[in-house]
Amino acid sequence: MLLRVDADRLRADFDALAAVGATADGGVDRETFSPAHLRARAWFHERAAAAGLETRVDGASNHSAVLPARDPEARTLLLGSHLDSVRRGGRFDGALGVVCALEVLRAVQDAGLELPVTLEAVDFTDEEGTLIGTLGSLALAGGLTPAALATPRGGRELLVAELARMQLSEEGLLAARRDPATLAGYLELHIEQGPVLERARVDIGIVTGIVGTASFTVAFEGEARHAGTTPMSARRDAAVAAAAFTLGVSELVVREFTGAVATVGDIRIEPGSFNVVPGRATLRLECRSLDAQEVESLAGALTELAQATAEGHGVEVTVEPVGRVAPAPTAESVRAALTGAAADLELTTMEVASGAGHDAQSLAAITPSGMVFVPSVGGISHDPAEETAWSDCVDGANVLLNAAVRLAEEAAQAVS
Ligand SMILES: [Zn+2]
Repeated sequence: MLLRVDADRLRADFDALAAVGATADGGVDRETFSPAHLRARAWFHERAAAAGLETRVDGASNHSAVLPARDPEARTLLLGSHLDSVRRGGRFDGALGVVCALEVLRAVQDAGLELPVTLEAVDFTDEEGTLIGTLGSLALAGGLTPAALATPRGGRELLVAELARMQLSEEGLLAARRDPATLAGYLELHIEQGPVLERARVDIGIVTGIVGTASFTVAFEGEARHAGTTPMSARRDAAVAAAAFTLGVSELVVREFTGAVATVGDIRIEPGSFNVVPGRATLRLECRSLDAQEVESLAGALTELAQATAEGHGVEVTVEPVGRVAPAPTAESVRAALTGAAADLELTTMEVASGAGHDAQSLAAITPSGMVFVPSVGGISHDPAEETAWSDCVDGANVLLNAAVRLAEEAAQAVS
């Protein structure tokens, strides 16, 4: 049996949510724990309660709406995304996934369907990284490390202050961990945030996984000298080495690492003036791939390239690893459920890797997880101009709904 979401109700919810923290240019400003973010979370719980769903908040401030199975021992199928945004972000990123998850629970309830799993729609805390990044989903998955808490993205001081202000604690964050044995899986709908689906004119993206990342600081050390009196042949110019390395990175990836991307995102030249040959250039560099082995070999090749470039330009170099995130492949069973649901709905699909991080990345470590992408107009995201055709949002919600039903039935079969 094919179920359908209530598209009008979904639209009303989406529009109401987009008005919370709305900016004049059509975006939203809902940074983690800002007044607008807290209002959005309260709104989510009000809508859930109005539908007769249970509402819960865990030690990481993850906000849930729950449709319990009749059997209290039944496992839980999680659906979710996030209501926080980047500063001056778009109204679709995260929010669409949360309203669709809520709508799935209501559609199942309205259909009078008794699923053999509990359905839980989760609004995860701080996906965008005002504090840590995928904070709530990491906490739920037991993936919050002492290192992540010690050196959070937004700084330790901000984390400590914000936890105290929200009456949260590090013990509470750790206690939000859920036993994987109680979970039946995780599904997330999200906008693609890239141009692939739109260009291919495909309705639905079935996410193969979330890419892994390795990031580095590379520092070339030459000699700062007078720019007028130092002949070209006598220079050890750190900026020239940095420029050669930057071009080399791009060429190397295009030539030899076709499944990867690499970016020199920042170059700082010192002392930084018209009349001094640069003595030091510091670059911030990251690479990503869905293939852990490719991240590994590319990281090695980039280090070798830095050393060869330094040698060729008569400067010294140091390469310091900054961060490493493992790729998170989605589960085959979940991809099959999503693909099957889309086929039933007569929608076209293609497999895509996610170049951006998502809460699904945290969940993939502990339970069969998957994601459905809907097309982003112009591939624009993290911007007020973020847009997805409404018919695509409804199609995605229907895929999420029918995939959830498929997974619920499979979960019951696996147990019996
Ligand atoms: Zn997002």
